[in-house]
Amino acid sequence: MINPAKRTRTIELSQIRKMFEVTNPDAINLGIGEPDFDVPENIKKAMIESIHENDTHYTPNKGYIELREEIVNKFKKDNDIKTNPDNIIVTVGASEALYMCAQAFIEKGDEVLLPNPSFLSYEACVKLADGKVVPVECSMENEFKLQANDVEEKISENTKAIILNSPSNPTGAVMEKEDIKAIADLSVDKNFLIISDEIYEKIIYGKKHYSPAKWSDNVVTLNGFSKTYAMTGLRIGYLTANEELCEELLKIHQYNIACATTTSQKGALEALRGPQDEVIKMVKEFKKRRDLIVERLNGMGYKTVNAEGAFYVFPKIEDKNFVQKAAKAGVITVPGAAFGSNGEGHVRMSYANSYENIEKAMDILEEKIINE
Ligand code: PMP
Repeated sequence: MINPAKRTRTIELSQIRKMFEVTNPDAINLGIGEPDFDVPENIKKAMIESIHENDTHYTPNKGYIELREEIVNKFKKDNDIKTNPDNIIVTVGASEALYMCAQAFIEKGDEVLLPNPSFLSYEACVKLADGKVVPVECSMENEFKLQANDVEEKISENTKAIILNSPSNPTGAVMEKEDIKAIADLSVDKNFLIISDEIYEKIIYGKKHYSPAKWSDNVVTLNGFSKTYAMTGLRIGYLTANEELCEELLKIHQYNIACATTTSQKGALEALRGPQDEVIKMVKEFKKRRDLIVERLNGMGYKTVNAEGAFYVFPKIEDKNFVQKAAKAGVITVPGAAFGSNGEGHVRMSYANSYENIEKAMDILEEKIINE
């Protein structure tokens, strides 16, 4: 046996992935974190054409220039962020962008503030970079929205960065503009980095999304095509930051990946340039499902916030055996504790499954667990 490095010894493989491997394939899966929709036809067509046109060679490290120009327009239009193609890096999903941030800026002795609960990869990326996680609690009383006051209390002289994720995985919470702006101002005053993971930006139900980079230059804004365009398997995302930050980020990307896959880059270009009808349709459908699942869970006595974004709800379920019982009854969910200690006593349910399946799953929970 070859001894693993200390950095890999300190983290474990994802519990969520492991769980999917062992559960019954006929169960209704409310555990999964990806849209159940297919890639829109215009995007598929653009990718197929790109192969016929032999767009299969290395691209610039930062990505095709046309794609970066389109991303610049997107940031201006949607996020009020002024950037330029030199300060964009096209990545292998938001996952790579996240990893690049950690590798480029975090080292031993650095503290990184993370919402608790939050997406599993955050803690792993911080640990792989030898950083120390400092959790900032998000409470159900505040609908799991991260509060600027709570962030301020956790800032120390070792604070190097904070990861923001609005809308949030696993809670669906959309942060208030005031809190985002206040944290952006803090990042300037106290000189720390904001890593803003905005991958669920478009999956939002009526509320407006704000990017901290509108108010601070100490921000890396990450985004991707996995959720908005159902392109999970195509592994394509992007980031923007100022010139100095981008230069460091590019070192990690260049020597690790060289460039994102050509076919996916061409698909991403079409996703941004083409019609957005499919996105609007998908979000409308997610909202219908959110309304259904929130109503049904509250009806069963599982207190659930009417989450304003992403495709997750995070009901309060104190029964420690709920996830196992539900899986046995045919509904897969994820224990809230997987996302941090503050997730304890909650369960994450994804509504990236059909309306009919969600209805069926709720009937199963009601019959087999509530009325047992
Ligand atoms: N950030 C969050 C909050 C996510 O939920 C996910 C996917 N589950 C990612 C990043 C990674 O997305 P990508 O497919 O772009 O790597």
